[in-house]
Amino acid sequence: MQLKIVPIATATARAVRQTLKAPGYGFPAHREAAAGRAPCRHCLRLIRPGAEELILFTYDAFAGLGVPPLPGPVYVHAEECQAHAGEGGIPEEYRGQPLTFEAFGDGRQRLSERSVEGGEDQAAEELLGDPGVRYLHARSTTAGCYLFRVERA
Ligand SMILES: [Zn+2]
Repeated sequence: MQLKIVPIATATARAVRQTLKAPGYGFPAHREAAAGRAPCRHCLRLIRPGAEELILFTYDAFAGLGVPPLPGPVYVHAEECQAHAGEGGIPEEYRGQPLTFEAFGDGRQRLSERSVEGGEDQAAEELLGDPGVRYLHARSTTAGCYLFRVERA
């Protein structure tokens, strides 16, 4: 099975950079220098501490997919970046990190969950092997924050 990795929409990243407000919520977004591990949800690369700035804002991980929404804190690069291309499995920056995959079916129904620290592609493929599963959410197991969506390519 080929995995497709889906970052947040480019329009969302641009809107938050231009307005410094959370799209759809209007809550203030916060811009500061990166410190520590901060993955950008648009390019899916780490925002380099001491070298790049981030914007922290409230994002609904189910935007465009269903209700109820699940707003939570995410980062993007403060400056323009390229959206993650999407093919080729779980991005390098997340391999070996504590990740939790949540599997969702029609109507946002939560079907299962798997926590991994290594073996990410295999775990994602196994969850997506269930024909009832439409997509996965990848979250940080330690912070709980939403990272990206995983689909069948
Ligand atoms: Zn970025």
